[in-house]
Amino acid sequence: MKNLTLILIILITFNSYSQKRKVFFKSSKGNFLISSDLHIHSVFSDGEVWPSIRVKEARRDSLDLISLTEHLEYLSYKNDIIIPDRNRSYIVSKGLLQKEEALAVVNGTEITKPMPPGHFNAIFIKDANPLLNPDGKVAIQEANNQGAFVFWNHPNWVENRDDGIARLDPLHRELLNEKLFHGIEVVNENTYSEEALEIALSNNLTIMGTSDIHGLIDWEYKKNDGEHRPITFIISKNRTIKSIRDALFNQKTFVWHKDMLIGKEENILPVIKENMTISSKGYYKKIVTVNIKNHSVVPFKLKYLGEYTFHSYNSFLEVPAKGELNVTIKTKEILDSIEMKFQFLNIVTAPKKFLEITKSVKL
Ligand SMILES: [Zn+2]
Ligand SMILES: [Zn+2]
Repeated sequence: MKNLTLILIILITFNSYSQKRKVFFKSSKGNFLISSDLHIHSVFSDGEVWPSIRVKEARRDSLDLISLTEHLEYLSYKNDIIIPDRNRSYIVSKGLLQKEEALAVVNGTEITKPMPPGHFNAIFIKDANPLLNPDGKVAIQEANNQGAFVFWNHPNWVENRDDGIARLDPLHRELLNEKLFHGIEVVNENTYSEEALEIALSNNLTIMGTSDIHGLIDWEYKKNDGEHRPITFIISKNRTIKSIRDALFNQKTFVWHKDMLIGKEENILPVIKENMTISSKGYYKKIVTVNIKNHSVVPFKLKYLGEYTFHSYNSFLEVPAKGELNVTIKTKEILDSIEMKFQFLNIVTAPKKFLEITKSVKL
């Protein structure tokens, strides 16, 4: 009887963590899409919640990886909470994870300096304490000595750039030349920076998107209105921390922000190919109906680039997230197959450049 109770408790606990996990995308063979938010705060710097809330929010949002990146230089509650060890936020949150849990936590911190260089996150660090240094470059160097993946936070932040334009200062160029940082936030909280995307692409930096959450996720992003926190998807060979870290260093990411996906074509195209299926429902007279399915959480906002005209729409189509759309096409003759070419108006691969896809459809 005791054993049975124990088994039931284990099953219930396991189910509560595994049951409702969201599938964001079908992933292509041999790849895992690791859902991550690598810039979040708790009361261990200037956030408003204990780290346990961050773990629970991450579970609710079906995340695979988070890092509590507390400010080293900015502690809001230092009169109330004594933090002699800057790794405590990580240790506390890591201690809350269950065995076999999908969610992982890695140690990280935010090096918080005036511009330049501004704020930098270092994740996969071994010890946050030695990173506390008045010189921003020295702190970033120490993070690199520990094998950290370092990225530039909110380069478009209006407190640092009053025009909201992300741009490199000489110190950033110096850090880039010495390969001391490896990624850049193209999305932070509710902002998107096309200039940061340009900086990422022209300097081989990893494209990052994070919530930088300080309050509650549910208050910042209204789920009932279809909102969600920014998520960086890391395309990893497996689910180990080593593989995920390698993928970050190899720029294997794309970002989901509002209704948009942002990332390099080589990273996004295989995912979209996997998540879009087009099949024929047959001809009536010389008009064929095709069904477009979207297996992903992102709506497909499509512009048709092919030669035919549609019987019920113009060139703009929207296939809802995890939904489908039937389209009638006037092919003039009864054909065996057609090529359908689309541009995704909400999938950005470079400034002013949108993902294009051509699918061969058997009719
Ligand atoms: Zn910051
Ligand atoms: Zn921050």
